[in-house]
Amino acid sequence: MCGIFGIYNQPEASKLTYLGLYALQHRGQESAGIASSDGNRILSFIGMGQVAEVFTQGNLDELKGNMAIGHVRYSTTGVSFLKNAQPLVINYAKGQIALAHNGNLANAGQWRARLEKQGSIFQTSSDSEVILHLIAKANGRPLVPAIKYALSKLKGAYSIAMMTKDRLIAVRDPWGVRPLCIGKIDKGWVVASESCALDLIGARYFREVNPGELVVIDSKGLHSKQILPKKSDTAMCIFEYIYFSRPDSIIFGKSVHSIRRELGARLARESYPSIKKADFVMAVPDSANGAAIGYAKEAGIPYETGLIRNHYIGRTFIEPNQNIRDFGAKIKYNPVRDVLNGKRIVLIDDSIVRGTTSRKLIKMIRNAGAREVHLAISSPPITGSCYYGIDTPTKEELIASKHSVREIQNFLGVESLHYLSLGGLLESVRSDRKTYCTACFSGDYKICGGC
Ligand code: 5GP
Ligand code: MG
Repeated sequence: MCGIFGIYNQPEASKLTYLGLYALQHRGQESAGIASSDGNRILSFIGMGQVAEVFTQGNLDELKGNMAIGHVRYSTTGVSFLKNAQPLVINYAKGQIALAHNGNLANAGQWRARLEKQGSIFQTSSDSEVILHLIAKANGRPLVPAIKYALSKLKGAYSIAMMTKDRLIAVRDPWGVRPLCIGKIDKGWVVASESCALDLIGARYFREVNPGELVVIDSKGLHSKQILPKKSDTAMCIFEYIYFSRPDSIIFGKSVHSIRRELGARLARESYPSIKKADFVMAVPDSANGAAIGYAKEAGIPYETGLIRNHYIGRTFIEPNQNIRDFGAKIKYNPVRDVLNGKRIVLIDDSIVRGTTSRKLIKMIRNAGAREVHLAISSPPITGSCYYGIDTPTKEELIASKHSVREIQNFLGVESLHYLSLGGLLESVRSDRKTYCTACFSGDYKICGGC
């Protein structure tokens, strides 16, 4: 997973990119980078850590120019080290290119092996570098046809912001797996993974980049080209709505918060009749807040705050040698005893991956005096890994791939466990399987079979 951002024709482009990345921080905390262009050459600064740790006033001042792109990385392919951080900046026969990629290329490994056999030298272990090698090998074609040539060979998910010394380019794969939107600011343009990044810098939402579309922004304005035919079935990642995107964003044309509320309402319709009676609904913050609000309204019971999340953990924390039980969960969440004591609770979370965090949280809630805990999940059981950029573990580690709902309920130690049905999920986004990728829930890997 990653977040990408690009801006054209704005003074202080690198500082606005810094702010854009700050708003996209939830999409990746491992590394952050910005490349800017002063019209003649591309400069870049990249570091490990969160946006505010990586950049200083000094290094932003050095990133001069009226255009910039940026990237925050959450490692999916390629191990975690500085070389794999983006934007990637290269020099090839036609000049410099900077590239920021969100997604996962399913056949990058095959292409890399082939290119290495032909003598290509790779600098990173990230799949994104394959795109640049293919562009450079496109037999002298101009840039846009070269990008088309490169991307027509690659399968999988990509939302890309790219920059030459005088052009900003945005592309989205023909399946539309990851979001990418365009915004307008004064006489300039912005592209961003999520619209929350536009809001912070005062840009207006313009539209999404369409699946298979390439957008060039240069001194003559914005030009669009459908470089790859949009698939009749798209595969927009439904997990972006469930968990990944920020609730204040508009992605795939819809408000994330509104969708989460709807997921909660459907979940209430499907599960509350069998729970029958509870004192209140509460969320595992923050990703399940919207669903819990929707659930409470639909079930007609109060919404409460029974867990508080510490937002200031950062990337590293030091654990004392005297082992504190469940340290990892405790450092992030603390129960509100006065709310929980003696109560029958419907606890909402957005998803269960391994089940390990949920188990610790439930123990914590019980120790705080809760009388009954009914766990309701605003998505179906995750039974398959994601090959398109979401960091789900191998199939074996996914608790729902090996265990029944009843077994998971026993493992977690709850009075009852309810998952949203796949039908309920699709109704919440007002779609059928044609628009969204539901592979992690349904096993329907549209893009490349089982990969
Ligand atoms: P589990 O109980 O499976 O260990 O953890 C479930 C929690 O993980 C949920 O609260 C959910 O919000 C969170 N979660 C779901 N998907 C992801 C992901 O891709 N990355 C991270 N860091 N957390 C996730
Ligand atoms: Mg969560």
